Amino acid sequence: MVVSDETRHGMKVEQPENLRGIVDLPHLSVSQLGTYDDCSLKYDLKYNQHVPREASGPMIAGIAVHKAIEIAETELWWPEARNFEGYEAPGYLAFLDVFTRAVDTAEGPIRWGGTAGTEDREWWEFNGLFMLQRYQHARIAMAENGWGAIEDETEYRVLAEFPGVNRAVIGYLDKFLMHEGGEPMIVDWKTGKIGNADPMQFATYARLLEIVRGIHVSRGLAIFLRAGTAARAVKHMTFRPLVPHVDEMFAGLERGLDAGIFRPNTKAWCSTCEVRASCWYWQGQGGDPK
Ligand code: SF4
Repeated sequence: MVVSDETRHGMKVEQPENLRGIVDLPHLSVSQLGTYDDCSLKYDLKYNQHVPREASGPMIAGIAVHKAIEIAETELWWPEARNFEGYEAPGYLAFLDVFTRAVDTAEGPIRWGGTAGTEDREWWEFNGLFMLQRYQHARIAMAENGWGAIEDETEYRVLAEFPGVNRAVIGYLDKFLMHEGGEPMIVDWKTGKIGNADPMQFATYARLLEIVRGIHVSRGLAIFLRAGTAARAVKHMTFRPLVPHVDEMFAGLERGLDAGIFRPNTKAWCSTCEVRASCWYWQGQGGDPK
């Protein structure tokens, strides 16, 4: 018996019934942990005050790529090369549909990524196809090497209560695989900078899986979809030694939230902060040149 819930990308997934009681409670995530560590004032503006955020081109495009991957997984498009072989292929059109609607309905100007915003709408419309082809090649290679999906959904949501933490912790696994030899693996599709993957993200997912499923995960892959070669696309993540510290990391976050400690990080990369328009620090010093 399962219940359905929205994922972070707005698709439906199924959750075990034993999660039903904590689904609606305030929860913490690894994104929140990272935001608080990066700048606790940003956390307050974003998660407590819900101030307007600048539209982020990389985020819009990343969500569109992940949506297309979700559909490719649920519709079983990924084993067939023709589903991603050109700009008329269904895999690409699924991406383009989500991307176009999000760009066209964004409120205010969109801040694009790359040097001087060169990774703009046109860049994503051109390169989105190659990112999805990279996903497909990686997915096929993993299947050929004995890795099968534990969960049918691309994005598998896991929610649990950690010892010493009052709020539930939530994680969204892009893919959770099991090798035919019996070893589990967490996979995360990355649309951002090559090499940019957070071991704490994998450690948090591993801890969640320990609590919810009783499965110990030591293997994780970050797949960088913008990489030009397969060798550059795959990063084997080392995270297992972090897992025993995950509970305390979230307990520390919770203590900070409960104490109302929200301060600007004056070393933060304010120029890319999506809530800088509402930030007294950034406004108060005339806009950070960084
Ligand atoms: S602009 Fe800088 S100091 Fe202000 S919330 Fe954002 S990251 Fe923090």
